[in-house]
Amino acid sequence: MSAKRDYYEVLGVAKDAGASEIKSQYRKLALKFHPDRNKSEDAGEHFKEISEAYAVLSDEKKRSMYDAHGHAGIDEKYSAEDIFGGAGFSMGGGGFGMGGSIFETLFGSSGFGGSGPGRQGRDMLYDLELTYSDILHGKDVEIDIQKDVACSGCGGNGGTRKQCSACGGSGRIRQSRQSGFASFVTMYPCRECGGAGDTITDRCKKCSGSGKQGGVHHISRKIPPGITEGDYAVSGEGEYVPGGQNGDLILRIRILDTQGFTRDGADLICEKRISVTDAILGCKIEVPMIEGAKTVNVPSGSQFGDVITISRHGLPSDSWRGRGDILVRLLVDIPRKLSKEQKRMVEKLRDSSS
Ligand SMILES: [Zn+2]
Ligand SMILES: [Zn+2]
Repeated sequence: MSAKRDYYEVLGVAKDAGASEIKSQYRKLALKFHPDRNKSEDAGEHFKEISEAYAVLSDEKKRSMYDAHGHAGIDEKYSAEDIFGGAGFSMGGGGFGMGGSIFETLFGSSGFGGSGPGRQGRDMLYDLELTYSDILHGKDVEIDIQKDVACSGCGGNGGTRKQCSACGGSGRIRQSRQSGFASFVTMYPCRECGGAGDTITDRCKKCSGSGKQGGVHHISRKIPPGITEGDYAVSGEGEYVPGGQNGDLILRIRILDTQGFTRDGADLICEKRISVTDAILGCKIEVPMIEGAKTVNVPSGSQFGDVITISRHGLPSDSWRGRGDILVRLLVDIPRKLSKEQKRMVEKLRDSSS
């Protein structure tokens, strides 16, 4: 493999794709190309490529390393184990990035259900409203979420636990089989412990063995300048699952007050109505800006639909250094009714210009 394909291209996502989009696109492709399901010859190679791309792009650190230095940056800094380790993959025996855990990543949540190890918590949604000023400067956000947290009595264990002897504590029974070029591991929940991996011998009184209690979870995050509206996943900060895998917290970023603007990348666009006489003679108008309203000159002879550009007063761009523009589109009001005198004056104007 001399020329490695771009990871974003492999997953078919844009360079600025959010974590949840990367995750769902990965799941879609991994299901499609999993060698157990897809019998075409290059499915295995393709699956490996997808898994590697996801392992890097789903990890903030590795993703920014890749964004900055490409494949060279990743290969220099991380071994294959490092790459897959962070994303919760294990390296399979066949030199092929898939042991049992990819299977679990894909099917763990729907396949097993119940509680205990391997159960995937649900994603939680949090609406985060930002002003244009927040987007211009970036913002440190402090978020308090009402949700279950680890029980303070037992630390999430649910009490004193004894490891299940049937499954050795994994909660799963492994069954491996050979499929041509690699061996695949299929997992079944252990019947002895119901998939929990252990049994409680002395139940915690505070949580009755559930391992969790209602509480408030605090998160602080740095929102970078220029962020676009949409959903962003904060890994592992969703539903708390004692001994399992927490869900993600989805930050839904919206603009708190659009100030009459629509956003087009780094540019902000608004419309302003002016009278026909102001269009003819020119005037001054007040335009809202991120840092406060500003008076702007409308030149004489302005036409309906003319755009006034206020350079570099828009939002920061993420693809180039600098700020976008504010674009003001002029709408000219034609009066529907004129007084007698006004009519006479317009007629005069017509006569003089013909
Ligand atoms: Zn407890
Ligand atoms: Zn067991």
